Amino acid sequence: MRPLLIKNGLAVDPSGEARRDLLLEGGKVTLLSPKIEPPPGCEVFDAAGMWVFPGFVDLHVHAREPGGEAAETMATAAASAAAGGVTSILLMPNTSPAMDSPALLKKYSAKAARCPVNVYLSAAATRGRAGRAPAPLAALKRAGARAFTDDGTSINPSLLPGLIRTAAALGLPLMDHPEDFSVTGPGVAAPGAARRLGLAPIPPEAEEFAVLRGLLAAAANGPLHLQHLSLASSAGLLRRAKALGWPVTAETCPHYFALCDRDIKRDDANFKMKPPLRAAADRAALLRAIADGTIDAIATDHAPHEARLKKAGFAAAPFGIIGLETLAPLCVTRLVLARRISRVRLAQLLSGNPARILGLAGKGSLNPGSDADITVIDPRRLRRVPSGFVSKSANSPFIGLPLRGWPALTVAGGRIVFRAGGTV
Ligand SMILES: [Zn+2]
Repeated sequence: MRPLLIKNGLAVDPSGEARRDLLLEGGKVTLLSPKIEPPPGCEVFDAAGMWVFPGFVDLHVHAREPGGEAAETMATAAASAAAGGVTSILLMPNTSPAMDSPALLKKYSAKAARCPVNVYLSAAATRGRAGRAPAPLAALKRAGARAFTDDGTSINPSLLPGLIRTAAALGLPLMDHPEDFSVTGPGVAAPGAARRLGLAPIPPEAEEFAVLRGLLAAAANGPLHLQHLSLASSAGLLRRAKALGWPVTAETCPHYFALCDRDIKRDDANFKMKPPLRAAADRAALLRAIADGTIDAIATDHAPHEARLKKAGFAAAPFGIIGLETLAPLCVTRLVLARRISRVRLAQLLSGNPARILGLAGKGSLNPGSDADITVIDPRRLRRVPSGFVSKSANSPFIGLPLRGWPALTVAGGRIVFRAGGTV
């Protein structure tokens, strides 16, 4: 592997930013300095006018393998991540069968190791994600699991305290999809959109109840990470929990700060996901929570589905949208260029904090000694979201939207895994 020198860029780290050259050798960052002369045989990338981040870490990706390979595979999810500037992804265990056995974890960990970006597997927190009995967390950790969650469904509240304590003892994060299904019922959209389009509503209490329950369980038992928060009330509860020192972290997703339920103009299931797009006031509150540190990380909840399934209409189509390839430009355009947050805060949300939550030593920083996972963003390049993606699926509500801040170069483990407009 040739050394790679990234020259003339603005190095944006969770701890600060400065004009710096960056030298990558042997899979590590070896030098970060105002001016570095290229060593012999070194490849040089000119990042003048660009922003150089520690590789983005996405805590929430559905790669659909095994069982849903028509929509995505680990290989296509990893390629989509590379194209999106994402160098590490955490896969969700709601595959078919669910990732709840050490044998499955071992098999797919081996497959993950062959992907061009860092692919980490989460395991189910309960057997079959059914919420009846805890999964064998210690054995799953030995088989390669990096986190536990029943994502797609909320962890059974009666098992949650014990699972929090077990995961904490193992040193791995426990993550919860906060949704009370008895409140969701047959709902498919937020009440405003549901009324307008004649659909069944998902009341906000479906998320609120589960968030409150999760926060209380964390206060009494140990760390818990809340997935895809979407409400002003969730952000408010989380802010208070953190002020009390409770061991909680949380993510939100680009669609919750970039869209609201008024953006659903017609029966288009590419706007259907869980939790649903919320009211404009929720979006505004989430933007504040992203800016003030209440929200720790932005994750995509990349959820590919076959086009034929999404064509079934809002009521019948499955929940979920893809997100890996639109993550960077949505964050750059709607957060940084819109002056909601600084570039340094973006480095915390996309790199530093998710790496810390997942316990990835060596990631989330540009400091020498860190892993050579790098995302170079071009803030000037204006481009509409294309209708075709590297992902095997194209269920995105953002197609056609003009955005700035597309990835120019993605480096994982010192290797170039994506280069805009060029071959790797
Ligand atoms: Zn979920």
